[in-house]
Amino acid sequence: MRKHIDFTTLFDMEKPLLEVRGLQKLYPYKDGKLFSVGGRKHVHAVDGVSFELHEKEIFGIIGESGCGKSTLGRLLIRLEEPTKGEIEFYGVSTKELLATNPEAFHCLVQSVFQNPFDTFTPNDTIGAIMERPLKLHNIGESDEERRQICIDALNEGGLIPAESFLERYPHELSGGQLQRISILRSMLLKPKFLVVDEPVSMLDVSVRADIINMLLKLVKTHNTSILFISHDISIIRYVSTRVAVMYLGNIVEMGETDTIIHKPMHPYTQVLISNCASIDLGEKREPIHIEGEPPSPIDPKPSCPFAGRCFCAKDICHREKPELRRMADGRLVACHLVKEEA
Ligand code: SF4
Repeated sequence: MRKHIDFTTLFDMEKPLLEVRGLQKLYPYKDGKLFSVGGRKHVHAVDGVSFELHEKEIFGIIGESGCGKSTLGRLLIRLEEPTKGEIEFYGVSTKELLATNPEAFHCLVQSVFQNPFDTFTPNDTIGAIMERPLKLHNIGESDEERRQICIDALNEGGLIPAESFLERYPHELSGGQLQRISILRSMLLKPKFLVVDEPVSMLDVSVRADIINMLLKLVKTHNTSILFISHDISIIRYVSTRVAVMYLGNIVEMGETDTIIHKPMHPYTQVLISNCASIDLGEKREPIHIEGEPPSPIDPKPSCPFAGRCFCAKDICHREKPELRRMADGRLVACHLVKEEA
């Protein structure tokens, strides 16, 4: 039996924790159905996404339902294979890492999903559920030691008395308690990176803040970085230092969260923020209304993905897809009309 993996012996820790380059996920599509193989058309779920994430950073991904943010999360933890592009942790591709050292990959990267009721096997006690990853990765000298690791984790997460939680089954716990356990279990292996996808959107409003605060405290204690996926701007503003705004599989604006929320440059970001009643920006903004639904993600045209709904689209927007360009304040924006100024 051994302790947690020492990542410094495996990786060049000078490199970025996570580097994503040109990531694309296409699903073959035929006669109104998605296919795993074949089909001439493709749904572009993630369409050329690039970004970096650094140690101890919380990076938010925001966008409406269907924009590709959850697919992006699943690609990063390799629940899905990318069609194209690179994902590297400390300079090592996830594909290579999974092939040569899958144990290191699973210790490095963990995830928390939206629905805590779907996360656990109903016939196992919380103790069995929590001890399983420890056994799988040979952490702890004995069952007794592993039990103590779980008790310490439950105490750290405020689930007290911890011993009584170990004996209980998932159906005996509330959604909030289960999501706490899901988070605590994901942290047992001391991952460097956590994908967190809408972790409180299915929970009562009364417990959301406590769970988010528990998560923030844990990742600060254990120096873990997060990719935090949400449709809720007020949560993203609370948790993240940087944010990427996604639309139809593309990142359309990315930068410091406060800068983007106070002065959104991309028209779609302006729409999102102007319609978010729950954030206090210290000034009144009129909601910007746009017509229609996002266009089909099936083989999109080489135009701006937002062109059909944008309130300031010009001819060029319907002919050319804008690249992400760096602005004077450091953010990146993909819009033909946004000038390079802060
Ligand atoms: Fe709107 Fe054109 Fe900018 Fe796209 S490129 S967001 S259509 S102004």
